[in-house]
Parts: sequence; structure tokens; C-alpha cells
Amino acid sequence: MSFNRPDIIRPPSEWKSYFLPLTSGCSNNTCTFCGYYGSKLQVRDVEDIKSEIDALALFKRRDLRLHNVSDVVYAVAQGWEGKRIFLQDGDALVYPFPKLKEVLQYLNEKLTGIERIGTYATPQDILQRSLDELKELRRLKMSIFYTGLETGDDELLQKIGKGVRSDQVIEAGEKVKEAGITFSATVILGIGGVEGSKKHALKTAEVLTKMDTDYVGALTLTLVPGTPLYEQWVRNEFQPISPVQSLEELKVIIENSSFTDCFFSSMHASNYLSVRGKLPQDKDRMLRELEKVLAAGDPSLLRPELLRGL
Ligand code: SF4
Repeated sequence: MSFNRPDIIRPPSEWKSYFLPLTSGCSNNTCTFCGYYGSKLQVRDVEDIKSEIDALALFKRRDLRLHNVSDVVYAVAQGWEGKRIFLQDGDALVYPFPKLKEVLQYLNEKLTGIERIGTYATPQDILQRSLDELKELRRLKMSIFYTGLETGDDELLQKIGKGVRSDQVIEAGEKVKEAGITFSATVILGIGGVEGSKKHALKTAEVLTKMDTDYVGALTLTLVPGTPLYEQWVRNEFQPISPVQSLEELKVIIENSSFTDCFFSSMHASNYLSVRGKLPQDKDRMLRELEKVLAAGDPSLLRPELLRGL
């Protein structure tokens, strides 16, 4: 079966990257809110990946396009500055380790200007790798993992089908840091709905504090048709929070968490308001920004629903 190239769904900070698919779908396809729910994991053939790397190298070095290479490759490569690679898809770290090493070695050999390679990684995938394996990936320039914590509330984690507990996410984060790889944790505003909102925000702050991670990215829940959570909403079993409540959750998380040195942001297109800064030093400023918008109660200060993205 030929490989289905996935759409590009990326963290905001990967906008300068070339997007190289290793898999499509997600091996942990049980999260009730996610568009990858029920997806079938497809693992791309190494030789196919190497052909794309060859085509990319030829294009960057000599501006040559091959007729048998997908237009997507050149569309993505067009403005690429040759420094960052993002490995797709939902959890590319699941790619078999020897083959993953082979791909990284090939990338480094063919594209010598590469400075950093990033990917989405589930806590389960991270915990399956040994510390030495993670260090080996780091040596091959894999330097950032984006991992969904989603919430620090264990009951909620179970409810949304993450298949992992918060202490396992903490353990995964520690292992990644020990390997010298940056760990960027994602949390989802609104994932507990109205009923679970307060507990979700407080528990998330608690777990983020324990993780003391370098990067935290907040997203806001978007109900995706076809997912179990969407169906729950249709059946009136899940009540989504309002845009204003999402800012309140964000405020509670920032207020109640503490970090040594963390870049915290809500820059993702799904959010109603973009707030960002270094914690702890920008905490007061970030809280003031949120309080100002909350006090104004003016919907025009929020990102319009139509402009929100996944
Ligand atoms: S692990 Fe991540 S990508 Fe996979 S289904 Fe869950 S949220 Fe989606």
C-alpha cells in the first residue's frame, strides 16, 4: 500500500521547518477529542523517506526539481531556510528505532545545515526508549519533543482516553530532559468542559510545576466532527466552556504553576487570546493582560471563531 502523506499539523514554533513524514496517523489513536482518533498508523518505508531527502537536497543545492517527486515537497521546501526539520506525524517517535537512526543519519549527511529536528512524541513512545537511545537521537540533532499532557487531572486523562497517567508524563519529561532534549508540553483549555474546568486548571498547574518544563503551549479545545467528544457534545453529555472561561482557565494555570525557566504561550491558532512570556519573570505581566481582557468583557478583543484553527 502506498504511503498517504499526512496534512501538516504543526506546533506554532515549527513554522520555519521542513515537514518530513515518517508515519501517518497515530499509534495511540484513542484520545476522544483528537482528529487522529481511530486513525490507522502507517509507517513509511525508509527508502521512500531517503528519496525525499535526496530530492530536497538536490532542490536546496542546485534548485533542481525531479518529475517523480510530489509537488508538496517543493511547496514546503520553497521558503525553507535549511535549518529545521519536523518529523510527522501524530507520534513519529514510534518509528522503529534503528530505522529512525538511519533516517536521522541520512538527514545529517545530505543536509549539512540542519540545526534541529523536532517531532510529536507521546509519553508512551518516550518511555519505551532507553535513556541511551534518546541520547543517541540527541546526538543526531533531534532536540525537541512536543508532548501532550493535555491535563494534569488523572480522572480526566482516563476519561479522554489518553492511555497514560500524569506521573508517567512527568517521568517521560524527566527522561527527555536527562537526554538533553527539550520537552515542550501541551495543555488543552476546555478539555474538562464546564463541569471539570476548575479541577482541570488546578491539577494542570500542579503537574506542570512538578514537570518544571522548558516550554508549555496552551491550546483551546476544538470539537472535531467524528470524534467521541464531539458526539458527546451532540448528545448534550459534554458542555464546552465559553471563550471567556478559556481565559479564566489559562489564568488559573499561570497563577498556580511555578517554573524555574519556562517559555509559556497560548499562541496556537485555536486560542481566543495570545499570551506569552518567560516564567517566572513575566508572570505578573501575563496575568495583567488576561485580567484586562476579562474585565473588559468585550468579545471583539478575542480571536473570532471563524479565524480559529486546529
Ligand atoms: S496521542 Fe496525540 S496525536 Fe495521538 S490520538 Fe492522542 S492526542 Fe491525538
